[in-house]
Amino acid sequence: MINIPKSLIEIRTEILSGKLSCKKLVESYLENIEEQKDLNVFITLFKEDALKQAEEVDEKFRNGTAGKLAGAVISVKDVISVKGRRLTCGSRMLNDFTAVYSATAVERLMNEDAIIIGKVNCDEFAMGSSNENSYFGPVKNPLDKTRVPGGSSGGSAVSVASNMCLLSLGSETGGSIRQPASFCGITGLKATYGRISRYGLVAFASSFDSIGIFGNNSYDIASLLEVISGYDERDSTSSAEEVRNYPVESEKSFNPGEIKIGYAREYFEEGLDPEIREGILSQIENLKSKGFTVKEISLPHTKYVIQSYYILTSAEASSNLSRYDGVRYGYRSEKPGTLEDMYVNTRSEGFGQEVKRRIMLGTYVLSAGYYDAYYRKGQKVRRLIMNDFENAFKEVDFIISPTTPNTAFKLGEKIEDPLAMYLNDIYTASVNLAGIPAISVPAGNTKEKLPFGIQIMGRKFDEEGLLKMWKEIDMKV
Ligand code: GLN
Repeated sequence: MINIPKSLIEIRTEILSGKLSCKKLVESYLENIEEQKDLNVFITLFKEDALKQAEEVDEKFRNGTAGKLAGAVISVKDVISVKGRRLTCGSRMLNDFTAVYSATAVERLMNEDAIIIGKVNCDEFAMGSSNENSYFGPVKNPLDKTRVPGGSSGGSAVSVASNMCLLSLGSETGGSIRQPASFCGITGLKATYGRISRYGLVAFASSFDSIGIFGNNSYDIASLLEVISGYDERDSTSSAEEVRNYPVESEKSFNPGEIKIGYAREYFEEGLDPEIREGILSQIENLKSKGFTVKEISLPHTKYVIQSYYILTSAEASSNLSRYDGVRYGYRSEKPGTLEDMYVNTRSEGFGQEVKRRIMLGTYVLSAGYYDAYYRKGQKVRRLIMNDFENAFKEVDFIISPTTPNTAFKLGEKIEDPLAMYLNDIYTASVNLAGIPAISVPAGNTKEKLPFGIQIMGRKFDEEGLLKMWKEIDMKV
């Protein structure tokens, strides 16, 4: 494996001093990708284009016109559009589909001279917590290849953790960035709902979906966040809230005496790996010793998070995925029959098991007679969960918790047991129900040498605060 600096500042310093070129940089990443092919990270590699673009960026470095993200090489989860490129969503349904436009986030980062090196593997339509639901096969965890990398943005997490690129764009509906970041020992940020345009992100559950970032350090993540954030007239749910100068602001430090941090007692109950519990509790002690006020709080509706998350997201998914009918997009069954047969066969053959399970669950909770009992109730519970956070943030500035109840599990261990799989999202899905931002930061390793993350949740649009808090977490405690 080629050793490539893991920070944008270092990369740019080396390029500016002539020690490195952008072309050499891309070549090195490509070599690392080739060498670790067995991890099954990339669905599409942009080899030639990335090299060509690197030469152009080198030229820009020479004449002083390089953009804010020049030197950043980025992978993109294959649920996000890059014009003219394959967009599979990890599904047979879209195996041969080519994107006709680029996502706003992609357009924005390319305008600042970031280079996209390829599209990475993920659970089908971003449904899953292990990356085992991909039509293209599972991604493996680089720290132990018999284990999952987490999901659904498994390819994104592994591409960054294995030095195949500097940063990655992933997506979240219920934890798909924070959970794999935690399993792979890197950092993942899910921004406030509406902070980053969803235009060009293939819809799973529209009122939950958001694009987010994987990276190694706060400056890099802050730099990418600043570029891709902001209002977009093509996404009516994108926010006009001012985009802060995240790279500058996140380097500043807190005055610990002014900051209150809460930890919800409901996040430390049954089901949490004792080693992770201990690790997070020692982070709490560490924060206290730095002068932060840390106190126990309650998020009383936590016990309903998984139920309401899966009811509401499946309902939205069943509607969003109705567009894959064999006529307008992608795969069409070859079997002869009536128009209705064609729909049925296309969807039966084109979708994998988990996607079908969600469509059925979603259709059920929306159907006449069950709508009030499930969907409407789910919406009411979502409001209660939002209120829990609103009340908590009257008392504290941040909430910390484990990111996941366990470390990376074995490939195949939970795939036959959907409920066990869903329970992986127990600490992350609440954040998407509430629409708040959260980050998972490496917090330690277990005796088995498997990493686990600490989750920091913040008030809406306080991404800057999360990035600042990150610096207060100390891997060594
Ligand atoms: N694991 C969750 C699910 O399967 C989260 C997925 C996501 O965030 N995209 O729905």
